[in-house]
Amino acid sequence: MFTVKRGAAALAVSIIILSCAAGALCEGIAYAATYSAPVIVIDAGHGGIDAGVRGKTSGVKESDVNLAIAYELREYFLDAGFSAVLTRKSQAGLYGVPTKGFKRRDMQSRRDVIISSGADMVISVHQNFYSDSSRRGAQVFFDNDSESGKKLAVCIQNSLNSMENATRAVGPLVGDYYMLKCTESPSVIVECGFLSNQADEELLVTEQYRKEIAYAIFAGAVSYFS
Ligand SMILES: [Zn+2]
Repeated sequence: MFTVKRGAAALAVSIIILSCAAGALCEGIAYAATYSAPVIVIDAGHGGIDAGVRGKTSGVKESDVNLAIAYELREYFLDAGFSAVLTRKSQAGLYGVPTKGFKRRDMQSRRDVIISSGADMVISVHQNFYSDSSRRGAQVFFDNDSESGKKLAVCIQNSLNSMENATRAVGPLVGDYYMLKCTESPSVIVECGFLSNQADEELLVTEQYRKEIAYAIFAGAVSYFS
């Protein structure tokens, strides 16, 4: 089912391009020649000395889980014909020398990538942690001032809610985060699961589940464009 779904979604961008071209009527050929794929910036949260939260059982670093999912997500977008840009490409942070003010420099570097790449969409990947270890599941955040961000968040949250391992249907939430305010383009933060919950953690440390959740995020993002 996974493979079939992926193949079907790979056609999604072509369908979007065709429908846009149809809208351009006789200018379809010219449109095809000038069309440039939407730029998706994928932001793996944390990195370097900032590991984020840690898996309660395995001790896995959030920063490593984020990066692995970001790379899977990038593959899906590239396969489907999008332009995909990673903010963080390695385990290192983006702050340069780890001295005072590193977090601010790290965030500014991410913003620089978003601006310089001309992002049409920003998806920031994180993992959650909560004192109540029974809390689990994926949660999407958007900025209260962004209608497009809210629309994207609904699309991705719905896709995540439809995953086989989803335990509850939740709506996206408003979040007041720097990464949601870097561009006018739709931006979301996806907290893929809770590293404080054993079931979520057991899933998130596997490559198979990282692929599945990346696919769900990708499918939600594609549905935004349609
Ligand atoms: Zn985080």
